[in-house]
Amino acid sequence: MFVPLARPDLTDLEKQYVLEVLDSGQLSFGEKLARFEDAFRQQLQIPHAVAMNSGTSALHVAVKALGLKSGDEVITTPYSFIASSNCLLFEGAVPIFVDIDPHTLNMDTRQIESAITPRTKAILAVHVFGQTCRMDKLMRIAKKHNLHVIEDACEALGAEWKGKKAGTFGDAGVFAFYANKQVTTGEGGILVTQREDIASSAYSLRNQGRAPEDGWLEHTQVGYNYRMSDLQAAVGVAQMERLSELLRKREEKAERYKELLREYQVPVTLPQALEECKISWFVFVVILPEGADQAGVIRFLHDKGIQSKPYFPAIHLQPCYRKPFLFEAGAFPVTERMAKRTIAIPFHTRLTEEEQRYVIGQLSMALQKG
Ligand SMILES: *Cc1c(COP(=O)(O)O)cnc(C)c1O
Repeated sequence: MFVPLARPDLTDLEKQYVLEVLDSGQLSFGEKLARFEDAFRQQLQIPHAVAMNSGTSALHVAVKALGLKSGDEVITTPYSFIASSNCLLFEGAVPIFVDIDPHTLNMDTRQIESAITPRTKAILAVHVFGQTCRMDKLMRIAKKHNLHVIEDACEALGAEWKGKKAGTFGDAGVFAFYANKQVTTGEGGILVTQREDIASSAYSLRNQGRAPEDGWLEHTQVGYNYRMSDLQAAVGVAQMERLSELLRKREEKAERYKELLREYQVPVTLPQALEECKISWFVFVVILPEGADQAGVIRFLHDKGIQSKPYFPAIHLQPCYRKPFLFEAGAFPVTERMAKRTIAIPFHTRLTEEEQRYVIGQLSMALQKG
């Protein structure tokens, strides 16, 4: 048996919408792009949504639209996908890492205030694995210290904190649509915001710096080509129409994994889900026992045809961060400890019970072998 880590859920509806775009002859800035952005405004009840070619691009645009620049400090987490920090480096801003809560794996909000300096301009919160940060607390700190907030909600479409949707708390929220996300467009991202100024900046930056009144070859500022094509948007429109189905299926698979872990008495734990949070299942991450051989478990599963990955390795220990910032092992001990123990196992909407049973059975074997 081969069980991949992730797999997109695509149906005839996605195909139909892509064909409509091909038949229309309008492959960019067409009807599907507008519909995709509308779907986000509706889903999040937010006035502005600007689609782009990746989540990383949308994060970069958020950083730029907020005017973050060289030397500005931004508080964020070292336990994330690297793009949430890279987007700061693109503009010369400095990521100031705050260690994580070992239970939720999200940035420990209790440690934010002690990381604030006169150069701090923003907090970039990441909702890791579809669980939101403690957003009421985080927003209170931001307000008190007059800091911008960017939410990297790339893993959290559909998640909520105390009934309010992830991505709608901060100055800007970002979602991503790589093939393993809850909703995919192949590649893609979107910036959402309540703020008119950020939205208009985002429209301009994604489209070569054109202002709304600029013609096609007029450029008010230096921008990028971060546009999403209508072929991508077509897939996204179909996925958004199917959003509740997609999220429900992921939740069902997660619940079944939990039951199987109990049934097989596998000695792993799961990230703690806070009561105030409605989680949106992105990946299924298990926390191995302290001292377990993470690489060995991954190799064991690989030999049985099961894909798994260490999720996440610590950002500050990546060579491209370690060197310029002189980070050493031990700088963020909780992140490092958890990074050695967390692995993502196969997770997508079409996992069969047989596959899930096989994965958990083999995981159990892998841990018995030590
Ligand atoms: C997926 C993801 C992104 C964006 O990724 P892209 O591949 O550029 O779309 C950013 N941050 C986090 C936490 C992610 O999981």
